[in-house]
Amino acid sequence: MKIIYSIIAPIYNEIDNLPELYRRVKKVMDSSGEPWELLLVDDGSTDGSTEGIRELAQKDATVRPIIFARNFGHQVAITAGWDYARGDAIIIIDADLQDPPETILELAKKWKEGYEVVYAVRGEREGESWFKKFTAAMFYRLIYSITDVKIPVDTGDFRLMDRKVVNVLKQMKERHRFPRGMSAWVGFKQIGVKYKRAARVAGVTKYPFSKMLKLALNAITGFSYFPLQVATYFGFASAGVSILAIPVVIYMRITGSGAFFGQATTLIAVLFLGGVQLISLGILGEYIGRLYDEAKGRPLYIVRDAPDDQ
Ligand code: UDP
Ligand code: MG
Repeated sequence: MKIIYSIIAPIYNEIDNLPELYRRVKKVMDSSGEPWELLLVDDGSTDGSTEGIRELAQKDATVRPIIFARNFGHQVAITAGWDYARGDAIIIIDADLQDPPETILELAKKWKEGYEVVYAVRGEREGESWFKKFTAAMFYRLIYSITDVKIPVDTGDFRLMDRKVVNVLKQMKERHRFPRGMSAWVGFKQIGVKYKRAARVAGVTKYPFSKMLKLALNAITGFSYFPLQVATYFGFASAGVSILAIPVVIYMRITGSGAFFGQATTLIAVLFLGGVQLISLGILGEYIGRLYDEAKGRPLYIVRDAPDDQ
C-alpha cells in the first residue's frame, strides 16, 4: 500500500508520553482517510521507552520503530526518520505533544495546495519558563540576523515536507545538523502555518541550556561565516586604533604630558588584545573541529534495530 504521510517522532526518555502520542496521532491520521505510518526513533532512551516503542509496533504495523545504539541527539534522530520514511509527505513532530498532532491536518491542507515545505510557527507557547521563552526568542532572532539563509523565526522542527524536499535533505550529510536551517536552505515553495505550542504532557525538557547553546552553534557555524569575519573586523579596528594612537603618543611626549602612561594602561591593552586573540582562536577552533568531524566521515547514527523495508 502506498504510504501518503510519514510522521517522525524522536523519542528520548518519553515513556509517559508514548501512549498519548500514539493515540492522538492515530486518531488524527485515521480521520485523514489516507495511509500513514508513524516512525518512532528511539534516541538511546533509558527509561523503558524502547520497550514501549517495540510494544506499540507489535500491536500496530503502522508504527515503525528505529532504535539507536545510543543517544545521538534530536537532530540526528530526525535524520534517521528521513532515511526510513516512505511517505509522500514527511512530518516531524515532538514526542511530548507540544506540537499538537491535530495541526498536521492543517499542514497537509497547505501541502495539497502545492506547498512543498509547510512549517508550523509558534504563535503562543504554553507551560514554558520565561527563561526558555526568552532564550528561544533571542536564539531565533540571532540566527535570522546572522545566517545567510532566511530561517523563519519562532519555528521549530514541527513541519511537513514533500518527498522531493526530503530526497534532497537526505543527500546533505553534514554532521552538526540544524534541520530547520537545512529545510530553509533547499528552497522550494515554503509557507508557515501558525499554531499554539502546548505544554509538555509529561516529563521534563530534554533541552537544557547547554544543548540549546550547542544547537545555536550548529546553526551559526552551519549557515554563516559571520563569526570568522568578526575576528577580521576586530583586527582591523584595533589596528586602526593603534595607528591613530601613534600621533597622539608623539604629541604627548613632545608636550611632556604623562597622562595615560604607566603599567595599568599597558596591562589593560595586553589583556584586551590577548582576550580578543583567544576568542578568535576559539572561533577558528569551532570551525576546525567541525571540519575534523566531517573528515572522519563516521556514520551519522548507529541503529540497533530498524525496519528492513527502508
Ligand atoms: N529528543 C531526542 N534526543 C535528545 C533530546 C530530545 O530525541 O537528545 C526529543 C525529545 O524526546 C522530544 C523532542 O526531541 O520528542 C524535543 O525535545 P524537548 O521536548 O525536550 O525539547 P523542548 O520542547 O523542551 O525544546
Ligand atoms: Mg518539548
